[in-house]
Amino acid sequence: MLPCIPVKLGIGDSQHIFIHWACQPEKGGAKSNIPRHLGGNVKNSDAEDGRDKIRPDEGVGHARTAKGYSAETPSGQALVRAVVKVPLVLSDGRTARSEIYSFTKLRDAGEHFAVKLGKPCPDAPLVRLHSECVTGDVLGSARCDCGPQLNEALVRLHDSGGYLLYLRQEGRGIGFYRKLDAYLLQDKEHDTYSANRALGRGDDERDYGMAADMLNALRIRRITLLSNNPDKRAQLVMAGIDVDALVPTGVFISPHNRQYLEAKVKHTRHTIDLSTEGAL
Ligand SMILES: [Zn+2]
Repeated sequence: MLPCIPVKLGIGDSQHIFIHWACQPEKGGAKSNIPRHLGGNVKNSDAEDGRDKIRPDEGVGHARTAKGYSAETPSGQALVRAVVKVPLVLSDGRTARSEIYSFTKLRDAGEHFAVKLGKPCPDAPLVRLHSECVTGDVLGSARCDCGPQLNEALVRLHDSGGYLLYLRQEGRGIGFYRKLDAYLLQDKEHDTYSANRALGRGDDERDYGMAADMLNALRIRRITLLSNNPDKRAQLVMAGIDVDALVPTGVFISPHNRQYLEAKVKHTRHTIDLSTEGAL
């Protein structure tokens, strides 16, 4: 990851000083003091609308009011609703500082949230989109790899700095009860996709548009995406997010989820190397 340096972006008429962090340009690359995810253009009007100044340690440029709620973001409708500090115990036993962001005006009514860990480099912070899986995330189900992937993501985001976007679209978008129905069908030799179709639902109904809304609310336009799923990248790019690079996640294979992972590779071109046995 490129080292980050503080840069002063500008002083508005109201004397609010805007300071942000920018990645140092690579050797021989074009030099710029303006973070690309801000479009290289911070207008004075941002300082004239009564927002509090941005602290350099906030990492992202959303402006907070005195109550801890955001003012309107410069593009898009979604806003940060609140930011709450929550210490997390990671799977390796370390305790991590985190900030959990709630939002308003996302494109659907789900209570999606973001978790900021470490010190993200704002030029293209590491971002993981994780869709809710109660059985895997909470109960430790071995039928899928969601739990280990979530744990791995939190550790990597803590170490590198970044954001986990936790998306409330259980069961690839069909809901928890229907996911259990699909499990029953999978026990009768359907795979995870044909089971959904047998229930009259799509192979994968997840929509990552709300993740783009959340990134816009956080004023993040450019990311490094932690994922093996090409559909996430495609949907984010369609929604106007610049995905600088795709960083693969670990592979977590067990006798219980091998069939599930094989179906993911076959149906959705997930970039998972199933020749490597992972620890689950
Ligand atoms: Zn799962």
